[in-house]
Amino acid sequence: MGDAGSAHKVVCNACPVLCQISEGRTGACDRWGNFNGVLTRVDPVVLFKKVTGTAGEITGFLESPEWDGGVVPEAPVFVSGVGSGTTYPDYKPAPFIVSSRHAGVDMVTVVTEGIFSYCSFKVKIDTDRWLGPEQATVRCRGEAVGHVTTAEYGSQMLSLGGVHHLTGGTKKEGRVTCELMMDLGNRKPVELEIESGARLSIAAGRAPIVNGVEEKRMRVGCGSATIGIFAQQWHGHVDEVVVVDDHITGVLTEHQAGRCLGMPASGIKIKGKKSTPGRYFQVAKPGTGWGGTDIKNPLSIVTAFDPKVARPGGRILMVSTTGEDAEFFVLDEQLKMIPAAMPERVRAVVERIGENCEPALTTVLFLAGAGGSLRAGVTDNPVRLTRSIKDLLVNVTCGGAPVYVWPGGGITLMVDVTRMPENSFGSVPTPAIVAPIEFTMRLPDYQALGGHMDRVRAVEDVLKNERVRVLSWGDLNPWPMGRGAA
Ligand code: SF4
Repeated sequence: MGDAGSAHKVVCNACPVLCQISEGRTGACDRWGNFNGVLTRVDPVVLFKKVTGTAGEITGFLESPEWDGGVVPEAPVFVSGVGSGTTYPDYKPAPFIVSSRHAGVDMVTVVTEGIFSYCSFKVKIDTDRWLGPEQATVRCRGEAVGHVTTAEYGSQMLSLGGVHHLTGGTKKEGRVTCELMMDLGNRKPVELEIESGARLSIAAGRAPIVNGVEEKRMRVGCGSATIGIFAQQWHGHVDEVVVVDDHITGVLTEHQAGRCLGMPASGIKIKGKKSTPGRYFQVAKPGTGWGGTDIKNPLSIVTAFDPKVARPGGRILMVSTTGEDAEFFVLDEQLKMIPAAMPERVRAVVERIGENCEPALTTVLFLAGAGGSLRAGVTDNPVRLTRSIKDLLVNVTCGGAPVYVWPGGGITLMVDVTRMPENSFGSVPTPAIVAPIEFTMRLPDYQALGGHMDRVRAVEDVLKNERVRVLSWGDLNPWPMGRGAA
């Protein structure tokens, strides 16, 4: 690849920027360089060696010191798109089209680094704390890079990056968005600010930090679910439980769980809109206090006790959906809630709420469209690739990680970046994101879909003639050859 340029320069033609690279230097993306007058991909292509019984963590990708350049080992190998390079304009075949034999089946893997303009990151942040209103703009270094999207169960969701921020705004917005996306994909921490909302520090696979405080627990469920889970364990030890939650605040004796247990009403009245018995919406504003509300003092949501129903001495627990906030009260003669020492049996259930909370994590999914010209690197009839993927004849992976391909038109895929090798993502200054992608199928299926058969190379040839970095395959991801070779 690469054209001869002016003296001592080579022209990189791996993307539309067409850098002229001087001897010993790299191009604008630092992915290609001029070494001894030859355009060379700076990083070696990543190759996986299947070793069973290794740890299932991504850190189980173990780098071997060197490949001896000789025979293919007994363990199967898979050539990934990481470090494979790109072909532009896309009518050229992909950089690696590799044949190998697995479980007695002739397979082929088409390997490339896709350049994606239409791509984004969907970020799931396990927290009940209020991060900002839906649709609020998310900023990085002052630039708009995404927005808050629909909250999910126990998690707040962000949509970051995307074509409009990459190329639809100012140059600075595009550059900052591109850097942010690359960092997110490469599991580095990024700092974000949500308009009228929280400051965040997030990294894939790590606990989110909201307004400088590291989140520890994901809620066990909404307030109603918490009542349902623990009602029986509270029964006999308390006369009322209020589980404070930004979504549904639960009141045990009104809730169906309390009724089924035959618990008498406590007479408590709380703020908020009653949804169904024992389930209240909007008891407070969203915030970073109890259960994702702005409550600092739980008594602020209790309006009164019905004197006809309540009785002095009533034992009341107020608790959040993670168990991190909990207070115990006893009603005095005037039916006022007086703080009291929490009985051991009650504390044990509060602790069990905490025990049942999963660790709060940040999950980062890369979402990208591979249904465009990238397909021409695979076949001269691109729609056949799309159809073959939908027909499950082709297994699509990103850096060996399994992807979910959306139904409907195109090849819109999603992949968990923590299942990909570290530093899988790059960028080019157009700006766009570079990410590895592999298409694996049986060799006859590749021929049938119009594949570039004259460019198929045996894996032995790749091993002998290319610079490769060998990682051991852990048990985290299914072996990409599995589908066709099984
Ligand atoms: S930005 Fe990178 S890929 Fe694009 S032409 Fe320059 S060196 Fe090549």
